[in-house]
Amino acid sequence: MATRLYTHPIYLEHLTPPGHPERPDRLRAIQRVLDDEAFVPLDRVEAPEGDPQTILAVHPRDFVERIKAAVPQDGLAGIDGDTVLSPKSWQAALTAIGAANAAVDDVFGGRADNVFVAARPPGHHAEKTTAMGFCLFNYAAIAARHAQGRHGAERVAIVDWDVHHGNGTQDIFWDDPSVLYCSTHQMPLYPGTGAKNETGAGNIVNAPLAPRTGSETFRDAFSSRVLPALDAFRPDLIIVSAGFDAHHRDPLAEINLVEDDFDWATGQLMEQAGRHSAGRLVSLLEGGYDLQGLAFSVSAHVGRLMKG
Ligand SMILES: [Zn+2]
Repeated sequence: MATRLYTHPIYLEHLTPPGHPERPDRLRAIQRVLDDEAFVPLDRVEAPEGDPQTILAVHPRDFVERIKAAVPQDGLAGIDGDTVLSPKSWQAALTAIGAANAAVDDVFGGRADNVFVAARPPGHHAEKTTAMGFCLFNYAAIAARHAQGRHGAERVAIVDWDVHHGNGTQDIFWDDPSVLYCSTHQMPLYPGTGAKNETGAGNIVNAPLAPRTGSETFRDAFSSRVLPALDAFRPDLIIVSAGFDAHHRDPLAEINLVEDDFDWATGQLMEQAGRHSAGRLVSLLEGGYDLQGLAFSVSAHVGRLMKG
């Protein structure tokens, strides 16, 4: 077995206006770095289109129809100031969901040790009935429900180290103790949620970080809050909402992580997965807006996944 990588050219066709940080070049930068010979052993698979039915485990049908109907024939259509649809956005989002669900199938079916999904648009800000923060559908949440519905997973953990709080994932699983949601994120920062005292049904663990936090404080927070929660929860699957905008070069936030922090955090989660979930770990790209910081961080993350 190996580490599998899902991506697809359609992800480059979800377009945003000039100057928008969530842009196709992000994926091009990731593709370039993963072309390095160090990544030859990656099992590269073209992402399949997702089954729209799987979205309904998370988002109500009228919301899904509303997003689909808002997709423009040409040009761009804004959902809010940050969140934009272009003609291929529906297909891109559906293929991101397809990759996430296929990744779940792979780790449960023994076709991969772990999987990284390099997709856009991202998902963790999408709430049950609100697309926001560059996100249309919450593909980490959909993949978690897919693991429960298709593979009988009883407990799924979603670990979110994107620098922004995953308000959407928290909203979706707020009163559902079958899903643990753990997040490290800068606070204060968009979207404003993620305080320590937001604990849901005891299944939400927020570890907010002050602006200018560096590696040591991040690792302390991860070690003292996220890892013990995982250990107590004993997940059947770990899903990573892998945003790389806590990198020190990122223009949207003020956390000062380096690539090695993502290597370290990945290793910690793999250890947890080894202990509780037969190694099953699925990582989904969320944010990361400095092309160099993003590429180097993904390189560290995927390199660590491949070490097994
Ligand atoms: Zn982010």
